[in-house]
Amino acid sequence: AKAAGKNTYAIFGSHMAELLRRRSALEHDLRAAIKNREQIEVFYQPVYAAVGAELCALEALVRWNHPTFGYISPQEFIPIAEETGLIHEIGTTVLDDSCSVLFELPHITVSINASALEMQSPAYPLRILTALSEWQVKPERLEIELTESVAAGDSVQLELNIKMLRSAGVKIAIDDFGTGYSSFSRVQKFAVDRLKIDKSFVDDLDRGDSNATIAAIITMAQRKGLKVTAEGVETAEQQELLRDLGCDHLQGFLLSRPLTRGDMMALLKVRAGA
Ligand code: C2E
Ligand code: CA
Ligand code: CA
Ligand code: CA
Repeated sequence: AKAAGKNTYAIFGSHMAELLRRRSALEHDLRAAIKNREQIEVFYQPVYAAVGAELCALEALVRWNHPTFGYISPQEFIPIAEETGLIHEIGTTVLDDSCSVLFELPHITVSINASALEMQSPAYPLRILTALSEWQVKPERLEIELTESVAAGDSVQLELNIKMLRSAGVKIAIDDFGTGYSSFSRVQKFAVDRLKIDKSFVDDLDRGDSNATIAAIITMAQRKGLKVTAEGVETAEQQELLRDLGCDHLQGFLLSRPLTRGDMMALLKVRAGA
């Protein structure tokens, strides 16, 4: 037993060392990538009307195309970017790319994901509004997604930023809605425009587990005049149930994966019949 324990420890130890090595390599490489303005790409996932299936919006999702590791998930590098302060530069890259898409495609809206650090930065609202005005894009066409955990944060600056952005016309959405914190009571606290129902609820629809929860979220949203998007829609059954429950918009691999800008533009041109 003692030998086995030692062995486990050795494996665990080398695994930890490996993780730490990767982590410090990524930190170093991320810094360089941002400095040289390369490798950071923005993909766009189409969002469709639940009824009629019209493509009405895009969610900007950042990608890191690393020269040796290939595409690295934002789940892995966003936390590194937050710890190192690089998140602001990444956010600005995504914002600029999104504004240029809004400029090029006058009939759609785009949502971007804001990290807690960005949303609590006093410089954030002006950065957003400046980019919009430089690209001559109406603020109403940009939506900022905050995860529920960010929105639940107790920060005066966060509330101020949300108020400033909303009074300029920018839309605010609560992402991953229903996954924790005080979802329902928290939405009362500051006004937002949209709830994005987390994929976990959409997954549970198949077993009939979450219909009542989703129905309750939609009822509350409608009472408060909020739009509802369901994310992570992977099956036709889910699509039909969510439409019948009264979701406004649907997003997920069934409808489209996140696309490169080029693929997204091609899709939109085909749809427009150009
Ligand atoms: P999120 O905002 O909840 O984004 C949805 C994630 O689910 C995306 O993963 C998307 O590719 C994936 N997804 C969409 N439809 C489906 C589906 O039908 N099935 C499955 N299995 N997955 C689906 P992605 O792009 O890897 O992003 C992960 C998370 O990283 C995002 O979650 C968001 O929290 C964060 N993130 C992405 N881009 C940015 C960014 O520009 N800034 C910040 N701060 N965070 C970002
Ligand atoms: Ca999101
Ligand atoms: Ca989400
Ligand atoms: Ca998420």
